[in-house]
Amino acid sequence: MASITLDNVTKRFGEGGDAVVAVDDVSLEIEDGEFVIFVGPSGSGKSTLMRMVAGLETQSDGDVYIGDALVNQLGPRARDIAMVFQNYALYPNMTVEENMSFGLKMSTDLSADEIERQVTEAAEMMGIGNLLDNKPGELSGGQQQRVALGRAIVRDPNVFLMDEPLSNLDAKLRTTMRTEINRLQNDLDVTTLYVTHDQTEAMTMGDRLVVLNYGELQQVGTPLECFYRPQNRFVAGFIGSPSMNFFEGDVADAGTLVCDGLAYELSERMRSNVGDRAEVTIGARPEDIELHDDPVDTNGFEVVVDVVEPMGSISYVYIQPVDQSHEQTFVVEVDGQQPITEGQRLYAHFPSEDVHLFDTKSGEAIHQRKLDSDVGMSAGGQSQNASASSSQS
Ligand code: ADP
Ligand code: MG
Repeated sequence: MASITLDNVTKRFGEGGDAVVAVDDVSLEIEDGEFVIFVGPSGSGKSTLMRMVAGLETQSDGDVYIGDALVNQLGPRARDIAMVFQNYALYPNMTVEENMSFGLKMSTDLSADEIERQVTEAAEMMGIGNLLDNKPGELSGGQQQRVALGRAIVRDPNVFLMDEPLSNLDAKLRTTMRTEINRLQNDLDVTTLYVTHDQTEAMTMGDRLVVLNYGELQQVGTPLECFYRPQNRFVAGFIGSPSMNFFEGDVADAGTLVCDGLAYELSERMRSNVGDRAEVTIGARPEDIELHDDPVDTNGFEVVVDVVEPMGSISYVYIQPVDQSHEQTFVVEVDGQQPITEGQRLYAHFPSEDVHLFDTKSGEAIHQRKLDSDVGMSAGGQSQNASASSSQS
C-alpha cells in the first residue's frame, strides 16, 4: 500500500498556441489507504490526471510520487497499480478464471496452486465464484465488471485506479456496485483513485473529493465539505442534485442585493462578508428555499409555479419570480404531500442561515451557510484550499 503525491503536475497536449492544457498545475497529497474521487464534467482532466499516476501518460511538468518513490521515469508495470476501466477489456477467449489469473501468471512466480487459491478468494469476494469456467461473452455487463474488479483485486496492488468503472451499467446495477466497491475498498484498505463525472457517486463513495474543472483544481475536501462549504460557484453548482440556484445581483446602499425579480436584504453577517463588493451572487439549494402562502419576512418573494415534478416523498417545484424581466426558472424541493399546482402563486422564502454568497466576477465563495454541527468536516475543519488563481467567470 502507498500514499500518492502530485507536485505541480501539468499536462499539455500539442504544442505552442494549439496546446490543450488538460491538467493545470495540480498539487495533491493522498494518504495511504484513502479512497479519493476525481470528479468534474467531461473534459475536465480527470482521466488524464489518473493516467499520469498510472504511468500511461507522462506529465509535461511536475512530479508524481507513489509512497516515497519518485515514479516520473517508471512505466505502468513498475508502479504496482491495478486499473479498472469503463470498458472491462476482458480477454474474450479466456475463461473468467484465466482472465483473473493471467496477470499473476505473467508477473509473479507464484505456484499454480497459490494462484488458484488467490483467484478463488477474489472471485468469492466479488460473488462470481460460480462463474470461473464461463467466458466473458456468457456474462451480463454487471458480472463482467465484477470479473474486471476481481482481476484487479487478485493482483494485490499498491494502488487501485478506477476510471468511470460503472458508467456502462444500468442505473439499478450501478447503485448496487457502488455499495460493493465502497465495501471492498473498506475491507481491502488499498489506496484508491476513482474517476467519475457523476456527483452522486462522488458524494456517496469517497473519503475525499478532488473537484476539477478545465484541468484546474477547484476544491479538495470530504463530500460534505464540498457540499456545505463550497469554495466557489463551480463546486456549489456541481455538487448537489438538483443544482444550487443562483441569483446574480447588485449591492445597493441599504445592504440590499438587487437581483432580477427579488431584492434580498442582507443579514449583518452577510454584509460584513460582502465588504465593498458591488456584484454578488446568491446561492440557495432547492431544499433550502421554502414555499409559503405569505412572504414570512422581507426575504419572501412572489413566484408563479411553472412545473411540478412529484418524486414521491418529495416534489421538485420549478418557479419564476413574478417581478423578473428575464424568464429564469428556479427549483425548490418540497414535501411530496404539500399540495402545489402549476400556475399557482406563492411566496418563495430564503432563510438567511441557509444562503451562500459568491463574488460574481471571480466565483469565489464569500459567505457560507450556517451549520447545525460540523458533520463531515475534516479534522482541520478546513478543506485544502484550491489555488487562488482557480477562478472562473
Ligand atoms: P475527463 O476524463 O475529465 O473527461 P480528459 O482527461 O479525458 O477529461 O481530457 C482533458 C482534456 O484533455 C480534454 O480537453 C481532452 O480533449 C484533452 N485530451 C485528453 N487526451 C488527449 C490526447 N491524447 N490528445 C489530445 N488531447 C487530449
Ligand atoms: Mg475521462
